[in-house]
Amino acid sequence: MGKIKDIKFIMKEYQYEKPFHIANSISAGSQNLEIQLLLENGVIGYGEAAPSYRVNGERVETFPSLESFVKEQLIGLDVRNYRRIFDIMDKLKCASSVKAAVQFAVLDAFAEEVGAQVHQILGGAKDEIETDKTVGIDTVENMAKEAQQLFELGFRAIKIKVGEDLKKDIQVMEAIYEVSKGAKYVVDANTGYTPKEAITFAKEIYTRGIDIDVYEQPVQMENIEGLKLVRYNSPFPVAADESARTRYDVLRLIKEDAVDFVNIKLMKSGISDALAIVEMANTAKIQLMIGCMSESSVGINQSVQFALGTGAFVFHDLDSHLMLIEDEFRGKFLQDGPKIRAK
Ligand SMILES: [Mg+2]
Repeated sequence: MGKIKDIKFIMKEYQYEKPFHIANSISAGSQNLEIQLLLENGVIGYGEAAPSYRVNGERVETFPSLESFVKEQLIGLDVRNYRRIFDIMDKLKCASSVKAAVQFAVLDAFAEEVGAQVHQILGGAKDEIETDKTVGIDTVENMAKEAQQLFELGFRAIKIKVGEDLKKDIQVMEAIYEVSKGAKYVVDANTGYTPKEAITFAKEIYTRGIDIDVYEQPVQMENIEGLKLVRYNSPFPVAADESARTRYDVLRLIKEDAVDFVNIKLMKSGISDALAIVEMANTAKIQLMIGCMSESSVGINQSVQFALGTGAFVFHDLDSHLMLIEDEFRGKFLQDGPKIRAK
């Protein structure tokens, strides 16, 4: 029997190895919520919510108050009918990362019960994926040094945070390019530029002979026209991250022809909206990358299983567990540098 007997909300605290600096935000650590979903037969499914105030408007302090509501809605339901549970959690619009964690814990318990892995339940499309690693905002010298180290460690996709200082950002790209030629670059401004700055950055980089594989969220999250303007005035593919939280956001981005790429994050969309976005993007020929917030290995496991199962992503930016300090690795996957394999 796959009936849910109990759901535990457990608060966890993680520190970054070094403060993580992106446009207009620095984090020293993350308070996450772990979900443990217990079935009547003793099977436990695990999920994790890594909240984002900046993107989702979520505050972790509010999460414990949702525990009784989630229990009341889900206890007694059968995880084998997971779509019914997804529909209930879709209504919890105030906490998308909790929705993600609960939906994943349901799949995790279901997989455990039938002796499979979540990536198989989601389709089993791939056995292996490769992740990038992120270079946060720092001095030009430090950013180049970090990119060089990543390249030497075998990372062939490097994510670079920009968006605070246009002139310096151009110098950063030049310096990183010099030490990592042949790498693919995902450049993320995290909403930091105006459309004019974003276009200037792209043109300056292009004239230096540097290629950017994904130019992520150059402008404000609400500025869909701005994204489109950058898309049509930049030689690089433009991606929506902060602008693409729900399936409805992505429907609008497609209708308005505003982006080449969407960055799916389970913490913004949950499993249900992420699945809907995959199908919409495939139909509309929009490319996909998958990213993360500040998940530990428990939370990154969710995105790894999703990426392996759907096989939908050109780029994988699943590196937060490599930046946080954890007592033990708890992902249900194997990792060797950038390579991530199904267990
Ligand atoms: Mg981003």
